[in-house]
Amino acid sequence: MAGLLPLEVLDEAATPLLRLVLPREKRDRLARRMAGVAPRRRCPVWSCVAQGLVVVLIDSEAEAVLCPRHELVYLDGRRVEGQPMFATAAW
Ligand SMILES: [Zn+2]
Repeated sequence: MAGLLPLEVLDEAATPLLRLVLPREKRDRLARRMAGVAPRRRCPVWSCVAQGLVVVLIDSEAEAVLCPRHELVYLDGRRVEGQPMFATAAW
């Protein structure tokens, strides 16, 4: 069991001075990618039936799923290592 997600959601009111700046081409690619994915899907881990949030990893631009049980996993079920930044169309 992976446990609870070590994520903190920071809303804009809590961080009024923080803005994430991406190169325009990367931002546009991420936006196009997010427009083409469903906001939620079943976790790709074969034994898991949880619905996860679809995300796109900022660095690699790979699609992954944020599962409440398995944290971040690639679409082939492998765990995403580290604490990558990711974009999501919904929260
Ligand atoms: Zn899962």
